[in-house]
Amino acid sequence: MSYVKGLKCRECGRAYPKDPIYVCEYCFGPLEVDYDYEWIKKILTRKEIESRPKNLWRYRELMPIDKDPTDGLNSGYTPLIRARNLEKVLGVKELYIKDDSVNHPTLSFKDRVVAVALSKAKEFGFKTVACASTGNLANSVAAQSAIANLERYIFIPADLEKGKVIGTLIYDPNLVAVEGNYDQVNRLCSEVAAKYKWAFVNINIRPYYAEGSKTYGYEIAEQLGWKAPKHIVVPCAGGSLITKIWKGLHEFKKLGLIDKVDTKIYAAQATGCAPIVTAIKEGSDIIKPIKPNTIAKSLAIGNPADGIYAVGTVKESGGFAEDVSDEEIVEAIKLLAKTEGVFTETAGGVTLGVTKKLIEQGKIPKNESIVVCITGNGLKTQEAVAEKIGKPLKIKPSLEAFEKAKNKRLGV
Ligand SMILES: *Cc1c(COP(=O)(O)O)cnc(C)c1O
Ligand SMILES: [Zn+2]
Repeated sequence: MSYVKGLKCRECGRAYPKDPIYVCEYCFGPLEVDYDYEWIKKILTRKEIESRPKNLWRYRELMPIDKDPTDGLNSGYTPLIRARNLEKVLGVKELYIKDDSVNHPTLSFKDRVVAVALSKAKEFGFKTVACASTGNLANSVAAQSAIANLERYIFIPADLEKGKVIGTLIYDPNLVAVEGNYDQVNRLCSEVAAKYKWAFVNINIRPYYAEGSKTYGYEIAEQLGWKAPKHIVVPCAGGSLITKIWKGLHEFKKLGLIDKVDTKIYAAQATGCAPIVTAIKEGSDIIKPIKPNTIAKSLAIGNPADGIYAVGTVKESGGFAEDVSDEEIVEAIKLLAKTEGVFTETAGGVTLGVTKKLIEQGKIPKNESIVVCITGNGLKTQEAVAEKIGKPLKIKPSLEAFEKAKNKRLGV
C-alpha cells in the first residue's frame, strides 16, 4: 500500500516518478517525496498510531515506501526525557532531551534514515548499498545492511574517531577511508554513484532516505502528548534533519494530529564548521562553503547539501542560530552526563552548548517548553573527553588502602 504520489522538485515543482533519482533535470533543484495527504488523513489518527508497535514505522503512511517495511524494525521511538536537573542548572521551566543516543541498532539518529533508505533500496531491487559518511551513517549502513544481507561500500574521511571506525568495521563492510575531508569524500561518491548501479543512501536514494528524519519530529510531538514544543534546538551537518523536523510537525498539523505549530527552530553548529549558522547570523540566503576544523566530526560538513533549506526553516519559524567552541562542546557533554545521565557524542555537546548560549542571550525564553535534540552516543567519540574528566582512585586490594585513598580525595 502506497500513499506516495511521486517525487516533486523542491524548486520548480515539476513532478517525477518514484525512481532512484534525486535532482531536477530542468532546474537542478532537489527532488522531494509527494504524499496523498487526503488519503493518509482518513487512516492515520492518534488512536491508530498509539495502537502500533513503538518503532519509527508507526508513522508508516508518512514514509516513502510502497511495500511493508523490511529494515529498522526496532529503530526509533527513543526516550523523550524531562530534564529536571538540567532545568535547575539552566534556570528554565520546561526542558526535554530527545535521546537518539540510544537508538537501535547503532546509537544515533542515522538509524532512522537508514531504515527507510534500505527498505526503499530493496524495493528498487538494489543488491549493493553505499554511503558517504561523517561517521554515524557509516555505522548504521554497515549494521543494517549486514542484517539485510546486502553488499556494502562505505566511504569515510580517513581521520574519523576510532569509535566510529571500529563501529563500522565490526560489521565487516567494504570500508573506504579517503584521505580528505567529508566534502571531498562526498564529491568522490557522486562520481562513483554515476558509474556503479548502487543505492547510495545519501545520494541517489536521498529523497527517500531523508524522509526518515521526520520520525524524530513526529515522536517529539507524540511524546509531548500530541503537541509541538515552543522551541527545538537541532544540530546541523548537511542541514537535512532540521528541515525534516519542521516538515514533520507541519504534516502532523495538516493531518489534524496536533492543533498548531508555534515552534521556533534553532540551528546548532560548531564554531569550526558553521556555514549554516553564519548565514543565519548574517541574514544571508547564501551558504559560503568552509573547510571544517572541529572535534564535532559528525557535523563537519563544510558545504551542506540542504544548507539553504536549513536557513529557510529557521527563518520561517522565527528561530535563530548559534555556534560553540570545542571547549564549550566538551563542557556541555560533561554537563549533560552529570545532570541527566546521558553520555552524548560531540554533536550533542554542540546542541546543548548552543541551547545554553541561546538561553543566556535571552533568545530562548526561560518559561517556555524547550526540546534539545541529542542525536548521538558519547562512547563513539571518547577521545574528545578522555583527557578532560576525572581519574579513578587507584588502590591496592585492601580496606586500609581504600580508606587512605578516600581520605586523600576528601582532603582529610
Ligand atoms: C548526521 C548527524 C546530524 C545532522 O544531520 P544532517 O541531517 O546532515 O544535518 C546530527 N547529529 C548527528 C550525531 C549526526 O550523525
Ligand atoms: Zn526543478
